Order: sequence, then structure tokens, then C-alpha cells
Amino acid sequence: MSPTIVRLTELASRWNVALERELPAAVRLRRELHAAPCLSGREHPAKERLVEALRDHIPIESIADAGGVGRMGPADGPAIAVRAELDALPVTELTGAPFAAANGAMHACGHDVHQAALTALLRAAHGLDLPLGLVALLQPREESYPSGALDVVDAGVLERFGIAHVIGAHVHPGVRKGAVAAGGGFINAAADEIDIRVQGRGGHAAYPHQATDTVVAIANIAIAIPEVIRRTVTPLRPAIISIGTLTAGEGAANVLPGQARILATMRTTDPADRQPLFDAVRVMAQRTAEAYGARAEVTRIEGEPALINDPALAAGADDWLARLGVDGAEPMRSLGADDFSYFCDAVPSLMLFVGVETPGQHPQPALHHPSFLPGDESVGAVARALMAGYLAAAERVLGIEHHRSDLAALENAPFDA
Ligand SMILES: [Zn+2]
Repeated sequence: MSPTIVRLTELASRWNVALERELPAAVRLRRELHAAPCLSGREHPAKERLVEALRDHIPIESIADAGGVGRMGPADGPAIAVRAELDALPVTELTGAPFAAANGAMHACGHDVHQAALTALLRAAHGLDLPLGLVALLQPREESYPSGALDVVDAGVLERFGIAHVIGAHVHPGVRKGAVAAGGGFINAAADEIDIRVQGRGGHAAYPHQATDTVVAIANIAIAIPEVIRRTVTPLRPAIISIGTLTAGEGAANVLPGQARILATMRTTDPADRQPLFDAVRVMAQRTAEAYGARAEVTRIEGEPALINDPALAAGADDWLARLGVDGAEPMRSLGADDFSYFCDAVPSLMLFVGVETPGQHPQPALHHPSFLPGDESVGAVARALMAGYLAAAERVLGIEHHRSDLAALENAPFDA
């Protein structure tokens, strides 16, 4: 075993023992956070609670309005960040738990678990010989726009704290309970919106030959979209466009409306497909509208980029999970979106999915469901996933530094013929 692995293995076993000691308090913290969910953009109370829980361990400064950041371990050199989202959803809770929220908001995406896990992990790391900085990223506004992750990146936090890699872990009922899915490459899709506005002349429904019928134009645009995808993106790469809103007319049966509109979400998994697919839809919509005597104005509202896990970090995390006694799982790929992708865009990063179950529920409620409530053991599971991510990232950074110092030693060695 390399000296790096030996050092990190020792750290892992100490950290794991310290984590076990932190878990009972972390589970209580999780329940407290669950009972007091904060909506996107209003996460200040949640952040203050975490600042208090971490007070003696790591100083947290404010970023991105309701967010926070702090660094522990070596003050200089590269650092690894672990991220937890602070926001809850506008969902009325139906779990019936004694610590259920009663304010019309709900931690239906498990962010209460992530926050408690991150707190336990940092508290457990206190006093340990961390080889690289460990940065806590308390991120606001994951569930709504403007993206909190983008704000954190734009604020220069990654540069200022020397963050080489960001690690995230998300609970997921689609992964077997207790197992963790890493997986390199595409994990979540880029999520853009397409807004198509068709403008015509309208008129009397009994005189369609004297009007421009935007209903027929928009209907043809809608049904042509799947074919545009098929002709633009290779079937070997997932991509979808789904129309969430189609409007035309104002309730009359005998009026041809002068305007119609489509709002669609466009999901692509390869950055190279994003612009060409939008362009193809734009051209099709404009020409289809033209064919019906109307005009189409097509705009793209840019959302999160695709979430691409760094393959080396994913493989490393799988190894560390095995060493920590945690089962691996198949990668959790979907056309969902998570703004963690902004971190992946900025530095090689890793999002892990932690298998959880809501006790006593069949079938298992999905994320964002009013009955979704992972069990207490999920706090430790998420913390261990983040730990494995830190260890994999540290192994990589130290390995590269080791390699560099070897090269330097070679260059400085006296030439010996
Ligand atoms: Zn979430």
C-alpha cells in the first residue's frame, strides 16, 4: 500500500469511530431541522442553527445571501468541499411523524438529513489529522431559481477557499437502503426551458381562410418536436423535450386566437447536444409557423448544466465505500436536474446517491412526496458517503502532488551518465 493510502486509511478509521459518537446528536438535530423547514431564499434560520452546532469546530461566514462556508484542517493548500442544501419545499407534510413540520413547508427532499450528516461529519473531523482542508458548503436555493450553487460559484468561493473538488450526497429511495451509488459521467441532465410564442392574425372560426390559425400552427409544432430530437441527437444519448404548458384561445369556441404559446423543458445529457437541439427546435417552429402564415418567436431560458461526475473520483469513492463497509450500487442516472452541476462545471466533482427507505411505507414514496421520510440511520449513511468522497478526492490530490514532487526530484537529481 502506498503511504498516501496508509495515511488515509488511518484517518478513515478514526473519523468513522468519531462519527459514530456524533450520530445520536445528529439524529436529534435532523429531527429539529425537519420540524422547522425553511423555503428557498429564506434559509437563514436553518443556517444559524448549523452555525451554532458547528460553533466550537469551524467558523462559518455568510455567502450567497442565506448560505455559509467555512474551512477546517490545514489553512493553506488545496481543500475538498462537502455540500449540503439548506432549503425545503412548499409541500404540506403528511408523514404523521412526531417531528413533522406544521408551517406548510416540508423537507420532502431529505435536505434535513444532508444538513445533519454534514454537521456530524465536520464535528467528527475535529482534532483529526486532515491532510487537506475540509470546507463546509451550506448552500441555499437548490430547489428554486436563482440557483444557490451558481451564486456560490459566481461569488468566487471555490477560488477563495482553494476548493479542488466538491462532494455532494443525496438520499434516494431508488437506491437499495444502505447502499451508495457513485458512478462517473453523466448523472443528471441539463435543464433548459424553451418558450415558443406563435403570433398570427386570428379571426372568426367560420372564416379560417381569412385568418391565421395559430392553434393549428402550434399543434403541428408540438407534434413535430419528438421527430426533431430524433434527427438531432444520437439515440445513444438520452435527451427529451416535454411540453408542460400549451395555451391558445381564451375560452371561445368560435374565435381563432391570434396567439399561442408552448413552454417546454429540454433535457440533454451531453453538453454538445444542448445548443444544436435548441437550434433545431427553433428552426422547425419558425418554419412550421410560417407554413401556416404565422410567425414564431423561440427563446431558450438557460437552466442547470448537465451533472457530470468525475470518473476518477467516482471510482475512488467506490473503493473507499468498500473499505468503510458500505455496499456500492449501480449509478443513479436520470434526466432530473440538480444545481450541484454548477460545481461539477467549475471543478471535477462527485455527487453520490445514498439508498434510503421511509419506514412502513409500501410502495416507497418518491422524493418530493408529502410522505417521504427516510429513517434515522440515513444521517450516518449520508455522512459516510461524504467521508468516502473526501477520502477519494484527497487520495487524488495527494497522488498528483506526490507525482509532482517525484518529477521535481528527478529534475533536480544530478545527471549521472
Ligand atoms: Zn434535493
